[in-house]
Amino acid sequence: MVNVILLGPPGAGKGTQAKRMVDDRAMVQLSTGDMLREAKTSGTAMGLMVAAVMDRGDLVTDEIVIGLIAEKLETENAGGFIFDGFPRTLAQADALGELLTAKDLNLDAVIEMKVDDAALVARITGRFTCGVCGEVYHDSTRPTKLVGQCDNCSSHDLKRRADDTEEALRIRLMEYYKKTSPLIGYYYAKGALVSVDGLAPMDDVTSAIGKILPKA
Ligand code: ADP
Ligand code: ZN
Repeated sequence: MVNVILLGPPGAGKGTQAKRMVDDRAMVQLSTGDMLREAKTSGTAMGLMVAAVMDRGDLVTDEIVIGLIAEKLETENAGGFIFDGFPRTLAQADALGELLTAKDLNLDAVIEMKVDDAALVARITGRFTCGVCGEVYHDSTRPTKLVGQCDNCSSHDLKRRADDTEEALRIRLMEYYKKTSPLIGYYYAKGALVSVDGLAPMDDVTSAIGKILPKA
């Protein structure tokens, strides 16, 4: 049982690597971003509440995301959890520590994915995904073979996130530096931090992460 946090700015590739870890090991990805986007489309009271905040690029309240994670830790059974996009504030980090302790779970590693800002802007503003299979594409670095059609599942349901605009990204980056980047020092002090180069090719990042984690 291995539990890890993927830490890094928006566009660092946390989601991509988390999905690979799920495929390669019996782990469960807990992405608060995905959970919130689901809530957004479900039209629940919570969904309506978070929609505008997310689209702007601001952080949703600690209370909401901590509640989402607490619920998943209760209901999901896994060979390990990958926390993707959570925690994003010191209060969330403390809350996660308490939740794990209460469940007798360890935090095995906090993997920081380092990427510079210019690369993030380029990565995110060209990004789109398949609404059916989740494959991620990019206008210039990874276009679909046929325009408007997913290579993987042939779906035409390709979409861009509402917060993948330059304006929302600027706010997301600011939120990251103000509220999330202090977690790097926090986990370093706890002796849990390891850094990988998020600018390396995707497969290299995957194998760097593989070397950090104990064997599945
Ligand atoms: P990215 O890492 O690419 O910015 P995510 O999918 O992780 O994207 O998150 C998208 C948005 O969801 C964030 O900008 C924020 O509004 C909200 N969100 C996700 N996780 C959290 C969190 N742990 N705390 C507060 N807000 C969150
Ligand atoms: Zn697809």
